[in-house]
Amino acid sequence: MSRPHLVRRPLVAGNWKLHQTIGAARQLAREVRNALAGPRDVQVVLAPPFTALAAVAEVLEGSGIEVAAQDVWYADQGAFTGEISAPLLLDAGARHCIVGHSERRQLCGETDALVRRKVEALLAHGMRPIACVGETLEERNAGRTLDVVLRQVDAILGGLSLHAPDQLAVAYEPVWAIGTGRNALPADAQEVHAAVRRRAAEHLGEATAAGLRILYGGSVKPDNAAELLAQPDVDGALVGGASLSAASFVAIVRAAEGRIPERG
Ligand code: PEP
Repeated sequence: MSRPHLVRRPLVAGNWKLHQTIGAARQLAREVRNALAGPRDVQVVLAPPFTALAAVAEVLEGSGIEVAAQDVWYADQGAFTGEISAPLLLDAGARHCIVGHSERRQLCGETDALVRRKVEALLAHGMRPIACVGETLEERNAGRTLDVVLRQVDAILGGLSLHAPDQLAVAYEPVWAIGTGRNALPADAQEVHAAVRRRAAEHLGEATAAGLRILYGGSVKPDNAAELLAQPDVDGALVGGASLSAASFVAIVRAAEGRIPERG
């Protein structure tokens, strides 16, 4: 059910994880901004740690590159020590937010239900979730990839109604590919992305699902980005390690740009 790709503007997001002081974050954001000056057919988003959100937003102002947070809490305010809410993220300049990253699911015990609450909180404030799904190696080896991924998709999209398909992006991130240098084979990624889009159509309707961006994440690098992004249902990338260097992140953005005429 792939549709003309121009329906879906590619999205490339850099997840800086627990890296970068405020000063280093400013510097990296400046390098990315300078390298990507001018019009772009790709939406570019940077996700620094909370402490650097406002500084990075300031550096990127007017560049068209947008800022994401790496997590959010579901309540707007209250007795939630250590947490951060959608209104505070907006105040710091973030417009997008990663949710359900496998590191949070695995290390912090985040459940499908909690991820869903976070998605709802973000949408209620006009923020754009980048909602992550993905199977572990054990689950893949047991032939359970689609069961796991589609269960996570159901939790994120079930009963949801979007005004526009770009209000939310799904990131398929096989857990065994994150930070390991071992990316999914493009054909395997495509198979999962196509299944996610079919399931999204059941929840959101065909038209919205056709416009939904489904990103691939997991050891995306300049040398494998083009073949992953050439897959018809791979609409961008969520990039961890390679986003910590402006040169490699920008090369991945260029690969996403390269995909546009190819699929026309
Ligand atoms: C990620 O953490 O979202 C990610 C995809 O990391 P890496 O690119 O380093 O595998």
